[in-house]
Amino acid sequence: MAASRRVTRAVGDVLDLAPRRGEVSLHRLVEAVSADRGRPIEIKMADLPEGVCGQWRQYTDRDEFLIQQGLPTWERTLAHELGHLVLGHEGIAVADMARMSSEVAGDDLISYMLNQRTGCMGPGGEDIEQEAEDFAALLIYRLGRMPSDRSSIVQVRLGEAFG
Ligand SMILES: [Zn+2]
Repeated sequence: MAASRRVTRAVGDVLDLAPRRGEVSLHRLVEAVSADRGRPIEIKMADLPEGVCGQWRQYTDRDEFLIQQGLPTWERTLAHELGHLVLGHEGIAVADMARMSSEVAGDDLISYMLNQRTGCMGPGGEDIEQEAEDFAALLIYRLGRMPSDRSSIVQVRLGEAFG
């Protein structure tokens, strides 16, 4: 499925933020987006509920991308979460999550909320999930086609990205 113009533009905007020199990795792009917004983005490996690949948490002063520990497709998930952010989707507001878990304490409801923001949804998910997937696919594709000395998407080691 071809990405929409909105997604194509968002990917272009992110790549425009890439450092002009040196290698361009997904991690560097996340840093560039963070600098552009003037708001920190932290990337963390986490033990997320089963079936959840990634999660975008919005704190008052920063954003956090949580990536499922040991996920072989973590780059795709990271790109997916970045897509949600730059496309203006809503992440999980952490205050709301705490309120829901204490007041409602419904595991089903919480897992529903978490699943709304995973990178594991297949085709036919919500529109915004499809949009984030399209973003991730296009971003990774275009990163992979950058001149080899500038693209490190395949070379970057987990320890460098998440250390
Ligand atoms: Zn998602």
